[in-house]
Amino acid sequence: MLDIHHPETRFALESVRQASYLVRQVQADLAGATLSKSDHSPVTVGDYAAQALIGSLLERYYPDDALVAEEDSQTLCSPGQESLLELVTGFVAGFVRDIRPEQVCRWIERGQSRPARRYWTLDPIDGTKGYLRGDQYAVALALIEDQQVQLGVLGCPNLIDGFRPDLGGPGSLVIARRGQGAWTTSLAEAREFDLLRVSDRTDPTLARLLRSFEAQHTNVSLLDELVSYLAIQVDPVRLDSQAKYAILAAGKAEVMIRLLSEAKPDYREKVWDIAAGSIVVEEAGGRVTDLHGKALDFSTGREFTNNRGILVTNGHLQQTFLDALARLGV
Ligand code: AMP
Ligand code: MG
Repeated sequence: MLDIHHPETRFALESVRQASYLVRQVQADLAGATLSKSDHSPVTVGDYAAQALIGSLLERYYPDDALVAEEDSQTLCSPGQESLLELVTGFVAGFVRDIRPEQVCRWIERGQSRPARRYWTLDPIDGTKGYLRGDQYAVALALIEDQQVQLGVLGCPNLIDGFRPDLGGPGSLVIARRGQGAWTTSLAEAREFDLLRVSDRTDPTLARLLRSFEAQHTNVSLLDELVSYLAIQVDPVRLDSQAKYAILAAGKAEVMIRLLSEAKPDYREKVWDIAAGSIVVEEAGGRVTDLHGKALDFSTGREFTNNRGILVTNGHLQQTFLDALARLGV
């Protein structure tokens, strides 16, 4: 059973809820701004503002804890960027009173902490392409202690019940605490929690594959080869972000694979892209390893330098997919 009164659990739920509302607000206010990750686009402003908000909440509630997050303050806080910094500060001020731009810079920069025995990791907007399209994205926060994820929360503003796409609806929070299961509740009020369980499909031909929209994030032709090698009959589920882990945890899909992209063979998975989603899946009964079946090594800092790619399944299908990947030379 989830102990929702545990201080860290309450902190994580509340922080992710606020950050989710913040990025939704940015999207509503800046819709129509340039669709790129540079300049004043919603994704730039939303990324910075959400990271600053969570940095400020951490400073207040867990001042000694490290934060390992995607953004740094260098560009935003350099000369010539005053108008962008002012815009970001304005959005954060909707959630934290009486703030100055220098504080926003400091809160963002907290995210560059070195991973310690205990640290939080944040992706302020995971699935930026989905966010820009008005589709699926997630705010992802996790707590790691002694190289194990202990707590993870995904804020999914465009999912309902933790798995059903619902653009512009109330949204979902998905939470897992080690030993306490994976749960979902409404983003609007965290009162009733529904337990998430992975599906019990064991037949690979019926495995629903979660796929990205972004071809650059994987190896599309190898994935297609795998689909024909295993004679997978069912359609994939396509969406951006760690919302994929929520859907797998809810039993609405069975497999997610992150192959190394041919365009970027040296890419290494980032801790904020995986930590929260991984505990959600594990606590729902699923498994998360790299492409060779190795456990994720959270000791290596911001990137998983000791791992290659990611394989996430409902557990029953893990070995089947590991074997198939090995047969295909992965
Ligand atoms: P998705 O929404 O599943 O396409 O994944 C979005 C995430 O993919 C982002 O958080 C990025 O950090 C991550 N990403 C970016 N480039 C790559 C890459 N070459 N390989 C794997 N993941 C990537
Ligand atoms: Mg991300």
